[in-house]
Amino acid sequence: QDLNANLDAYWMPFTANRQFKKAPRLLTRADGMYFTDDKGRQILDGIAGLWCVNAGHNRPKIVKAIQEQAAEMDFAPPFQMGHPKAFELAEKLVQLTPAGLNKVFYTNSGSESVDTALKMAIAYHRVRGEGARTRLIGRERGYHGVNFGGISVGGMVANRKMFGTMLGGVDHIRHTHDPARNAFSVGQPAHGAEFADDLEKLIALHDASTIAAVIVEPVAGSTGVLIPPQGYLQRLRQICDKHGILLIFDEVITGFGRTGNPFAAQTFGVTPDLMTVAKGLTNGCVPMGAVFATQNIYDAFMNGPEHLIEFFHGYTYSAHPLACAAALGTLETYADEGLLTRAAEMQGYFAECLHSLKGEPNVIDIRNIGLIGGVELTPLPGEPAKRAFNVFLDCWDKGLLVRTTGDTVALSPPLVIEREHIDRIIDTLRGALRRAA
Ligand code: PMP
Repeated sequence: QDLNANLDAYWMPFTANRQFKKAPRLLTRADGMYFTDDKGRQILDGIAGLWCVNAGHNRPKIVKAIQEQAAEMDFAPPFQMGHPKAFELAEKLVQLTPAGLNKVFYTNSGSESVDTALKMAIAYHRVRGEGARTRLIGRERGYHGVNFGGISVGGMVANRKMFGTMLGGVDHIRHTHDPARNAFSVGQPAHGAEFADDLEKLIALHDASTIAAVIVEPVAGSTGVLIPPQGYLQRLRQICDKHGILLIFDEVITGFGRTGNPFAAQTFGVTPDLMTVAKGLTNGCVPMGAVFATQNIYDAFMNGPEHLIEFFHGYTYSAHPLACAAALGTLETYADEGLLTRAAEMQGYFAECLHSLKGEPNVIDIRNIGLIGGVELTPLPGEPAKRAFNVFLDCWDKGLLVRTTGDTVALSPPLVIEREHIDRIIDTLRGALRRAA
């Protein structure tokens, strides 16, 4: 394969082409905790692919489920009909979700789940005769995928600024990240729920009767692994309840065991009205997402007056048979190996090792919960995100895959991780931090 000749044939996501051209990184295999690259090197996976391969790579039950389904039925139209695995999967999923979130709507990605949930929230108020509730509130430094709804409620400036008009009527709650006060807190920072009160200000500004929903990630991943301060999510829930506003949790990263429970909603003891997932739903093997909703929301659409339309939204590939099969194989693997609570068992050791990086060059904060962690670095002067990217490159050279989110190095390893993998991740990262000094 002539890489250089082929480089321009194919447009990678985001700005990856330029980086790839400078230093092509080609992955050719994946097993368990490791990728193999085109030179035959083993690369320890410190980020579960892209926060998704929670059970580790190439798991036999998932592979078999996909192969068997492909031979049995390749596609089934999702409109006006169903197929057994879609129902079987829904039944299994709602046994894992927080009590009350018992309805499942299938999508194909995190971005689709987010836009689906936002539309559900607005339409829910409308079918109940509260059509003025169209405003949406996200959070600064929130990330909710790349579709127009997601970038509108999201708070990543780089993802928005080139694309013209965003959704109207969107505001953002001030973010909670304050390195001065968070610094080196193990687990949840303790500075209380005061940041959530910013929501009250936005509500006062617009009047609650115009607001449909608030959307947040329980733990923000892609904008730097930001753990909510104690009481923050509880306070958001209280405020939303008080004003009849729906609360949406985007659990695309935190879902399926990342924080020590099936969902972060359970870890933090707060149940949203709508919850978006993707990634770990199929262990990253086949694209699939879902939105979980309460009975109340379902009833508004499905058991309301006949003349009102149902929720008019859906995708050709919703409940795709291959995706449903992959998800069933994934849930079986999670259950067999106790993976949805494994992060709770491993988080003590993970936290201890991660926090041993305190004092390494340029480390200004370390954040963790379950098996997700972030090491924030002082930026290189005038070159934001560059130092963390240098650390990423160094780790890659030493056979470790991490992710950078601005100036934070993010870790989110497969949940099958053992102590020796944690040791290697931390040793490699420590070396890279010292070399990047
Ligand atoms: N929401 C969150 C919280 C995410 O982290 C992501 C992806 N990292 C998305 C949505 C978008 O998911 P996808 O890339 O599958 O569209």
